[in-house]
Amino acid sequence: MLNRGSSRVRQRVVQAWLASTVVAVSWGASATVVAVDVGHSLAKPGSTSASGRPEFEYNRALAEDVIAQLAGVGIKTRAIGLNGEMDVLTARTQAAKGADLLLSIHHDSVQRQYLPVADHFTGFGVFASRKNFDPDTSLRCSTAIADRMLAIGRTPSLHHAEPIKGENRPLADARRGVYWFDDLIVLKTATQPAVLVEAAIIVNPMEERMISDALNRKLIASAIAAGVTQCLRTGVLGSRPSINGNYW
Ligand SMILES: [Zn+2]
Repeated sequence: MLNRGSSRVRQRVVQAWLASTVVAVSWGASATVVAVDVGHSLAKPGSTSASGRPEFEYNRALAEDVIAQLAGVGIKTRAIGLNGEMDVLTARTQAAKGADLLLSIHHDSVQRQYLPVADHFTGFGVFASRKNFDPDTSLRCSTAIADRMLAIGRTPSLHHAEPIKGENRPLADARRGVYWFDDLIVLKTATQPAVLVEAAIIVNPMEERMISDALNRKLIASAIAAGVTQCLRTGVLGSRPSINGNYW
């Protein structure tokens, strides 16, 4: 929980920083387009948070903030699955055709044996596929996004690398929480570089509270957008406040 005084100060710091991320960036006449994929759908909503909310709702809220941040630096976006009716994974990569980057937004869970109490799982993860059309750029964008997440005080979660059934994912970069997930459909079938971000582990009540805070969500969205922007070769940003340390 926040104390009210520090909350107001933090709000001003975060808002100033968010404003600094949307300074005029010389993007020129580029027609760069980022396809922002909202993970899951109303019918297939993904994991269930600690409080019982579907992952899709978190994905949609964060994707909307990422889209707003990218618009702020002049990057065009194409939202995929925002209305919750995109049930077929390959329809997502079809819809992304022609975009320069596919960015898929998700929130994370853990293996069933660790539920319902998942308090010690925190952090973010970023995924790329070596079977993607352009694995090198996919990894470069993953790295840039992870660096921006680290810069706001988020920590990578390495739980997908645990050598157990359902995990065992190879780490491309352990320090940054970047994984290879070669057969992930949206990454593998994309016709451009593709990155999937697991922004927070919503089966942990503390993480769910953190990401439910609109300012925290905007800060994380700005970190993702800044990583994308850096990866797509613009110059960005100002000073970086840390996200509220009470949460992790
Ligand atoms: Zn998901």
